[in-house]
Amino acid sequence: MVARSVRVRKVVGSNPAAPTIFYLIYNHKKPLGTDVVFYNLKKNFMLFIHNTFIHNSIQVNKARWFDLVQIDDAGSGSLIGGTCIGLYFDKGRIIDFDFIPLEFFNPENFKKKLYQQQVINIVSNFFLKYSIPTDEPIEVCQGYIFDALRNYFAQNDFIWKNVKIQGVLQDKVEKTFADYAVSLGLPENYVLFTKYPFHFHKLLRWVYADYDARKSLCKTGWKSWKKYGDLPVEADFGIMDVPGYYCLKCGKKIRTKSPIRILKFFSNRQNIIYLHEDCASKTCQTS
Ligand SMILES: [Zn+2]
Repeated sequence: MVARSVRVRKVVGSNPAAPTIFYLIYNHKKPLGTDVVFYNLKKNFMLFIHNTFIHNSIQVNKARWFDLVQIDDAGSGSLIGGTCIGLYFDKGRIIDFDFIPLEFFNPENFKKKLYQQQVINIVSNFFLKYSIPTDEPIEVCQGYIFDALRNYFAQNDFIWKNVKIQGVLQDKVEKTFADYAVSLGLPENYVLFTKYPFHFHKLLRWVYADYDARKSLCKTGWKSWKKYGDLPVEADFGIMDVPGYYCLKCGKKIRTKSPIRILKFFSNRQNIIYLHEDCASKTCQTS
């Protein structure tokens, strides 16, 4: 098999007891596979030690090491806040972030999909900032937020593919978005101890717990906000008889047997919110 231009990336196996070096082998656009290779630079010849794909040898006209680029997002599915875009660049192990501001998700801008162009701007700025060659292979997260970026890559002959980003970049971009959500007012313990804290209905209940102050934090251009963003709320009073609840308004614990305020609204399900009876703000002292 002859490939005109082959790119190889050294990958060290993760088992320290049996260290192996693999090489990811790409031709122009798509990955050919992974193997252990012997590469003779002078003869431009590669011998594949294992016959894991197609042929056991490959002749190349040109080969060079490449540095992977990864692009991921966090918050594109979060009802509150803008969206964080993260970059990882193998060379120098660079990780950086930028945000699509919340106003891109208001009804007017969201309808025009201006956030899509903003993603292209953010990624282009990353490439400029770190002098990333435009022929490095790029892995892009599969989410809707990158639809226009994918077109941009295709039109400009970038080498890219859709993947589910995992590992360092994913962890860091999610942490960055979580910190940002806390800066918007989401309680830190809610983010830390709630399973899937950014699920739509969990955030919707948090918004309704202090509606007038929090509705301005929402992606109001979403269809689901049009549907569930202005529902009638029923208020009631009661006594908390179960331990372990937190007030969704101030974020502090509600003591057992203490008086509470109960808010109820129906979206596509019944939602119940528990608050301190006289909870006034983030600095509520009643816990
Ligand atoms: Zn409270």
